[in-house]
Amino acid sequence: MSEPSGLAVLGATGSIGGSTLSVVARHPDRFEIVSLAAARRAKELDRLALRWRPEYVVLAELPEPPAGLEWSGEWRCGREAMKAAAADPAASIVVNALVGFAGLESTLAALGAGKRLALANKESLVVGGELVLRAAEDGQGQLLPVDSEHSAIMQCLDGRPRAEVHRVVLTASGGPFREWPASRFGSIRPEDALAHPTWSMGDKITIDSATLANKALEVIEAHLLFGLEFDQIDVVVHPASIVHSMVEFRDGSTISQLGHPTMEVPILYALSAPERLENDFRSFDPVQASPLEFERLRHEDFPMFDLGVEAGRAGGTAPAVYNAANEVAVRSFLEGRLSFLGISRAVERVLSSMAPEPVENVEHLTAVDREARSRAREAVGTPSPTGGETVP
Ligand code: NDP
Ligand code: MG
Repeated sequence: MSEPSGLAVLGATGSIGGSTLSVVARHPDRFEIVSLAAARRAKELDRLALRWRPEYVVLAELPEPPAGLEWSGEWRCGREAMKAAAADPAASIVVNALVGFAGLESTLAALGAGKRLALANKESLVVGGELVLRAAEDGQGQLLPVDSEHSAIMQCLDGRPRAEVHRVVLTASGGPFREWPASRFGSIRPEDALAHPTWSMGDKITIDSATLANKALEVIEAHLLFGLEFDQIDVVVHPASIVHSMVEFRDGSTISQLGHPTMEVPILYALSAPERLENDFRSFDPVQASPLEFERLRHEDFPMFDLGVEAGRAGGTAPAVYNAANEVAVRSFLEGRLSFLGISRAVERVLSSMAPEPVENVEHLTAVDREARSRAREAVGTPSPTGGETVP
């Protein structure tokens, strides 16, 4: 039997990181953990290291490990250590489950080093665009989506050429405010937005799902991953999250992938594709899942969707501006400094103040990201003399 594949799990302490480790635990003969990385939650990483005994662990956002840790193995710190873990020859598979723009350098490093990249961190693909695709081509890396919709599309496509595809339909749960009248949006609190009806995920993507920014990021992700025109990508709301997406082929056949909502299935497939490995799963009962309901997306009430797709269509640096402004706005909303409606207002303001430019290189993107963040902080509002902040 062949050796197990070495795995670097970036974002190991998060929601996707945890699901990845659950999947790996069922296949010790197929996968072995080389490294585990997080931002700064050292205690959680310590606990994982004691369980998984990797070659080393990484804390990307700390200068050194804090005192009082139990695991006596190697602790590495800093962003360079994270990048090195993504390119480590001992790992043939890299799971990128970091959040936001911060995942870009690991995505580029892994693909440039010829890894299989199981990509959950969609922001890095959306922001990096052609740079990421070129890194994969030049480094002979393989890009496999972890996002459930894109995993579904990949499975439905089953390697058929793009010319045979008429369009794809991404499904969206619609988030917690699907049935709320827009007149109530002014009263939305972070805890309302964090209560997702079908998926349990990290904070940032949960808010993106509530504003539908997540679906816009996913449209751009589909455009890049599958080489589709924006006009070939439709979105439909499907509250139960059972149909994970569909592909309509030119002969009139529509193929979809179904199952109960759990990220473990797409994670496992990103690690093993095209092979299908044993898994623990709840069998799909079509009668119990009936009726499968679909409805149109409320574009007029969720402006983050159209803003994101427009940024995708504009191309160049526009998706990076959209993403950076959104990251700042989401953080401000979670910290109670910005209203729910203020998220799209802030992002729109930043987008309209920065014209899209062709992307030169990663340094250029980093500069654009920084500038968009600074403008977003301004748009979100500066502290008032009393210490409170304005809530646009
Ligand atoms: P979580 O917030 O649960 O976890 C994020 C992980 O990344 C943590 O390990 C965190 O470390 C680490 N991290 C965050 N920021 C940085 C940084 N600047 N540098 C280094 N490490 C960092 O997120 P999720 O698991 O929910 O999401 C991860 C990615 O997967 C996102 O891009 C999301 O859009 C995507 N995704 C998630 C899904 C889900 O079901 N959760 C579904 C589909 C896609 P620490 O603990 O130290 O803060
Ligand atoms: Mg998704």
